[in-house]
Amino acid sequence: MSTSDKTVLSVVIPVHNEADNIQPLYMVLDPVLKHVSKNAYEIIFVDDGSHDSTARVIADLHGMNGRVKLLSLSKNFGKEIALAAGIAAASGEAIILMDGDGQHPVDRIPDLVSAWKQGWQVVVGVRTHNRNEGLVKKYGSKLFYALFNRLSGQRMVPGSSDFRLIDRAVQQEFIKLNEPQSITRGLIDWLGFKRAYVTYAAHPRMHGPASYTFRNLSKLAAHSFVSLSPAPLYAFGYLGLAITGVSFVLGLAVLIEQIILNDPLSWDFTGTAMLSILVLFLVGLTLVSQGVLALYISYIHTQSKGRPLYVVNHRESRGL
Ligand code: UDP
Ligand code: MG
Repeated sequence: MSTSDKTVLSVVIPVHNEADNIQPLYMVLDPVLKHVSKNAYEIIFVDDGSHDSTARVIADLHGMNGRVKLLSLSKNFGKEIALAAGIAAASGEAIILMDGDGQHPVDRIPDLVSAWKQGWQVVVGVRTHNRNEGLVKKYGSKLFYALFNRLSGQRMVPGSSDFRLIDRAVQQEFIKLNEPQSITRGLIDWLGFKRAYVTYAAHPRMHGPASYTFRNLSKLAAHSFVSLSPAPLYAFGYLGLAITGVSFVLGLAVLIEQIILNDPLSWDFTGTAMLSILVLFLVGLTLVSQGVLALYISYIHTQSKGRPLYVVNHRESRGL
């Protein structure tokens, strides 16, 4: 392969029912890519089971410009999997991920690329504000980042989005991870590598409603917690410990005061009250045993993800 047809820059765009947005996006994206990559680019649209004419619009673009490519999935797998498919298919030295609805600003691409040229291997677009976002989505995403950072032990910068660039080295490691129901940016962050941030203001969607509903987003958030952290499992164990501890102390006090010392403080505990303490104690024990189960499950959970123990960035010595 001569250097001229080598792809330097791949842009991966997952699309689901975005027929009206593809052409306008292409019109602004193509000149920018031509410019920054000296014509060595590819645009991979991953059609994620669209019901409208999305695939046809892309195929028409491909007819006009061979650098536009279409990867059509057999059904709607969801954006995260569509992104993973596109990342695996990309052949560039650097791969940019962006949405197909015009929300990710094309004019920030040169900044992503120049950070990459300075040696950053992951360049994350950080959304500063989104004027057209509902309150639920806005505060929902704030809550998500706060919880995520607490529970996962990973640091995700609030507002960091899928609009990002990854180096080929990161791509190669990413495709080795084979985790369904995971959030792409969380996995990329887990991989490490040298990371830089570029801020951007998200545009409103060009046409049509967002495919992601509140229900979808909540499901995604729940899945990414499950895939990154066993912490929710432990929470019930701790609750159980607290309940058992309190009811044990209460029970002991009642036993001594009421039965052994014959009620010198006149607590006058009824049988029902004593029974409640016993029930509380047993409930606590059940929760503790769930916590113990959680320890084992989290062990299996970590194993089952089959993540590599470590990720090598580069090697200086041949044969290592
Ligand atoms: N998308 C996808 N599959 C889906 C849902 C969405 O490929 O099942 C694409 C969608 O076409 C868009 C991007 O993912 O290019 C972001 O989706 P959307 O705009 O609906 O979500 P939001 O901007 O609210 O994150
Ligand atoms: Mg969008």
